[in-house]
Amino acid sequence: MIELQPILHVLRQRGILLGPGHFVLGDGYGNPGHHSATFVDWQKFNEAVDLYAVLVERLAEQVQHLNFDLIVTPDEESLPTARMLAKVFTGYSYRPEIPCQICSATSAVKDAAPLALIHDDFVNRGRQLNDSFGALTRKGYLPVALTCLFTRVAENEIFGLPIYAAVEHAVAATPADKCPLCAAGEPVDVRYGKGALFAARPAGVGVGATPAAMR
Ligand SMILES: [Zn+2]
Repeated sequence: MIELQPILHVLRQRGILLGPGHFVLGDGYGNPGHHSATFVDWQKFNEAVDLYAVLVERLAEQVQHLNFDLIVTPDEESLPTARMLAKVFTGYSYRPEIPCQICSATSAVKDAAPLALIHDDFVNRGRQLNDSFGALTRKGYLPVALTCLFTRVAENEIFGLPIYAAVEHAVAATPADKCPLCAAGEPVDVRYGKGALFAARPAGVGVGATPAAMR
C-alpha cells in the first residue's frame, strides 16, 4: 500500500492542503455550517498531475478486492478519475476494461452489471451521491462502495456504503455546533473558498467568532 504520510507531506508542501487551521467551509457544495482543520485548494490540486496519479493508484489498491463490474459517477467532473481508476484496476487483474458512466437522478446507467462502485472526486455531505445511489438501486444494481480522492465525511461509511478515500480522514469536517476548534475558542479562518461570503451573512460576524447562523 502506498503510504499516506509522505503524500500528505507533499500535499501540504505544495499548498494543496492548507492547515492545520480552523476553516469555515460554507462552500455551497454540501458543507454549509461545517468547519474543518484542513482546507483543500482544488485549483492547485488540479494542476498537480503527478500527485493525482499517485492518489488514484492508492485508491485502486484499496478497492481491488471488491470485484465491481462498473464505476458510476454523480457528475461529469469525476468521470476522468473514474476512468483512470478503471484503467489502473484492470492493469492489476488483466480483466476487460471496466465501463464508467455518469449516474444521477436524471440520467440512469445503461446496461445491466450488478456490482457498481460509485466514485466522486470530492465527497461532501453526499446529496448527489444519494441521487446516484437511488438511481442505481431502482435499476437493480448493487452499489458496493464509494470511492473518492478526498472526503469531508469523518465516518467510514455513508448511506450504509463503505467509503474508500485516497486521502482518508485528512480533510474531515464537523458541523459548527460540534466543532472542537470552536469549543476551544480558536478564531475561525474565512479567507478561503466561499467561507468569507458565508460567514459575512447576518449577525455581522467575522474572524474570531462563530457565526450565529451556524450555531
Ligand atoms: Zn469551528
